Amino acid sequence: MTSASDISAGRLAAGAYDEAFCDLHAPLDQHEARVAAERCLFCYDAPCVNACPTGIDIPLFIRQIATGNVQGAGKTILDSNIFGGMCARVCPTETLCEEACVRNDAEGKPVIIGELQRHATDAVMASGRQLYRQGPRTGKRVAVVGAGPAGLSCAHRLATLGYDVVVFDGRPKPGGLNEHGIASYKTPNNFAQAEVEWILDVGGIELRCGQMLGRDFMLADLRRDFDAVFLALGLQAVNALGSDDDDLGGVEDAVAFIEALRQSPDLSTLPIGRRIVVIGGGMTAIDAAVQAKKLGAEEVTIVYRRGAEQMGASRFEQELALTHGVVIRHWARPATIYGENGVLRSVGFAATEDRDGRLVDTGETFEIPANQLFKAIGQLFIPQVLEGSHDVLDLEAGRIAVDFERRTSLPDVWAGGDCAAGDRDLTVVAVEDGKQAALSINRALQGFVPMAAE
Ligand SMILES: Cc1cc2nc3c(=O)[nH]c(=O)nc-3n(C[C@H](O)[C@H](O)[C@H](O)COP(=O)(O)OP(=O)(O)OC[C@H]3O[C@@H](n4cnc5c(N)ncnc54)[C@H](O)[C@@H]3O)c2cc1C
Ligand code: SF4
Repeated sequence: MTSASDISAGRLAAGAYDEAFCDLHAPLDQHEARVAAERCLFCYDAPCVNACPTGIDIPLFIRQIATGNVQGAGKTILDSNIFGGMCARVCPTETLCEEACVRNDAEGKPVIIGELQRHATDAVMASGRQLYRQGPRTGKRVAVVGAGPAGLSCAHRLATLGYDVVVFDGRPKPGGLNEHGIASYKTPNNFAQAEVEWILDVGGIELRCGQMLGRDFMLADLRRDFDAVFLALGLQAVNALGSDDDDLGGVEDAVAFIEALRQSPDLSTLPIGRRIVVIGGGMTAIDAAVQAKKLGAEEVTIVYRRGAEQMGASRFEQELALTHGVVIRHWARPATIYGENGVLRSVGFAATEDRDGRLVDTGETFEIPANQLFKAIGQLFIPQVLEGSHDVLDLEAGRIAVDFERRTSLPDVWAGGDCAAGDRDLTVVAVEDGKQAALSINRALQGFVPMAAE
């Protein structure tokens, strides 16, 4: 039977929280960085560059590190990706640049591009130098909605091109999921806020927090008052399990759990169950499970409806969970949620299999006792925030439809990041969307490309 003490705070000894939530990777020192950089073959037409969504000139920045020009390396990265510091910490490099590295072929081990990127961008941040300033003023104003990686990447690029930008965000703090979603052991020491402050320091960007599109202002207001609009709203809701017991005490949304953890001033006050079940196979599932374990949960089990190969979380992420004592069970879906006195007691699962490409139940069932169930089965875009305009703003697969320049169906509105249909939901993809949208807005407002007639 579940008792109140099965979900409680302070499971770790005082002082153990800092250690549990410390940096996932210790940063490279100068010598380690040089040795790692010397493994790079500085390939012509380097495959790692093609695999980076922001197209960072990887061989150039690694050569700069190898020759002792670490600040120059940082600038090479930031010129392509203004969130190069965050991406160095959170990118699944093992499925992007490092997967493409030619060193894998001969040695089975890539150049550690992500760690080198962190070495270089950290050096720029530590120097306190500002590398960018607002460009000569164009006299034009752009509204950006959403201060996550997509919105701030767009705002920063527009500022350097001479635009005055107003960034609106519904939350009290900027940063989007960098601040509220990314696992805390990937971005300790308030790195996300420090990076946002550095980005905003470019000048020409006014931040208005606590301002929600659809509540405090409408898209039509922005279209009237600004020369262009960039929507970078992210995703607002999580998928439901589809069970009647979704609202049972202990059944929670994994993103909300992670957000509470990221914003908690004292992790020893955050309640966690003894036994946790996490449903899902992506990064959110891994982050919720690992952080639950770090908070002192005794048993944490991730259950995913397909196999390890199909999980959205990379091999590295899966191994991270396993080395933290998380159990991953494949080929099962939640069938019944059992409660007692309004509180979760266990979760019943139906075993699944792939039959000719279709996921079907095998007929076997099993039950896992649980005090908390975290749902990590994907997030949703809620088009109602576009109230009054979604009749003309086309959607695709439930998100805002955009072309390759991130233009929407409205001539003066662009969109990018998770709220736009298209590429994977990754920080680096959102950053690239923001950058490409800014370049497209610039072309349109400078008259290089005529805006399509409405
Ligand atoms: C738990 C979790 C862990 C993740 N871990 C990783 C990882 O390790 N690596 C990785 O690459 N990716 C990770 N991702 C994905 C990554 O965080 C997102 O792809 C990325 O943040 C998308 O950026 P964005 O700017 O589009 O949206 P967001 O970061 O979601 O930012 C959107 C912003 O818009 C604001 N907003 C929303 N609606 C409104 C409105 N109506 N009016 C005003 N403002 C509004 C929000 O407050 C928010 O600040 C993770 C995602 C989650 C949920
Ligand atoms: S593919 Fe590997 S070796 Fe070649 S440039 Fe990129 S990091 Fe260097």
